Amino acid sequence: MFVGHYSASLAAKAIEPRAPLWTYVIAAQLMDVGWASLVMAGVEKVRVDPSLPGSSLDLYHMPWTHSLPGALVWSLAGALLARVVLKLPIRAALLIGAVVFSHWLLDLLVHRPDLELWVGGPKLGLGLWNFPVPEQAVEIGLVAVAGAWWVGQRVRQGRRIWPAALFLAGLVALQIVAMLAPPGGDPVQMGATTLFAYLVVAFGAWLVERRSVDAGERLPAAASRA
Ligand SMILES: [Zn+2]
Repeated sequence: MFVGHYSASLAAKAIEPRAPLWTYVIAAQLMDVGWASLVMAGVEKVRVDPSLPGSSLDLYHMPWTHSLPGALVWSLAGALLARVVLKLPIRAALLIGAVVFSHWLLDLLVHRPDLELWVGGPKLGLGLWNFPVPEQAVEIGLVAVAGAWWVGQRVRQGRRIWPAALFLAGLVALQIVAMLAPPGGDPVQMGATTLFAYLVVAFGAWLVERRSVDAGERLPAAASRA
């Protein structure tokens, strides 16, 4: 799963707007940020098998980032970082922890069995990746539903619609690019591409909430339009 993970970020932002969107966006992929880094370091292992349907990734060794205990530790770390380093309200920090953990649940839905229940234990995965068209529909659908919720919330707060619409369109575009240009290359290349994509989305999320972009009807520029 790729952009589908961001549905959790958008839902969390609609529930608790006091945390910046970029924090929820990084939280949704925090486990994969760890994964990409450890894959580049050669600690976790992946190979590309073009014969696999849907995602061609064979994620045969990722105990540190994608086992259930691993996911719980990453979630706890995310919540603590949000609270202690970013000084976010407790409710927002807890939601950030929940968004980090949502990554594991959504991966559980799409991955072929590669998520360890405990390190060295049985591997779980419901394998929606084996059905590429429904899988893509689920990812885009999740973003659409959570995105509509988020945009509705922004409208009630008097914020502009277009930056949010552009962000959502960017997510869909990224998903299409990822679908048309499947992963390849060596682990270092794959990890770097993954980190770059996540950074771009986080930057987009930061941009959406810049005061100059986001202030909506309160901005003099907006007022002069009327
Ligand atoms: Zn993942």
